[in-house]
Amino acid sequence: MIDRRLLLTGAGALALAAGLRWLMQAGDVEAAGSFEIEKSDDEWRKLLSKPQYEVLRLHHTEIPGSSPLNAEKRKGTFACAACELPLFSSQTKFESGTGWPSFYAPLPNAIGTATDRTLFIARTEVHCRRCGGHLGHVFEDGPPPTGLRYCINGVALKFMPDAPAAS
Ligand SMILES: [Zn+2]
Repeated sequence: MIDRRLLLTGAGALALAAGLRWLMQAGDVEAAGSFEIEKSDDEWRKLLSKPQYEVLRLHHTEIPGSSPLNAEKRKGTFACAACELPLFSSQTKFESGTGWPSFYAPLPNAIGTATDRTLFIARTEVHCRRCGGHLGHVFEDGPPPTGLRYCINGVALKFMPDAPAAS
């Protein structure tokens, strides 16, 4: 005869494992096969530096304060480090104090978002519209005019300064 309590415990453990697995998979937010630029994992690995690959393709987060782009104050454009699509203008950059480059708005048609549940809370993940590379997250505690804070890994960005204005 099967022990009923044992059976229930087993079912509970299974449900828990399934729940955890769902959470882990939900963290893998990229909709595969729907980006303009697609490469195999090997190709990305060759194209990107190890820190870039870990953030853009594996959704890692860089150590706060580690990016030289935190202190970047020049006028210019922040592009995707993987495919060079322009993503943010220096005009929308602000000092958030978080240690990650922060912007209150992206350029038009530059980014995509998805729900990320990896930390047991729903956050809005931000990725490059063209190659799907993971950039960071967007939060609703930013400054005017949008009230949004795009919290971006500097390693996922490439800064392109404006040409100095001719005088
Ligand atoms: Zn890109």
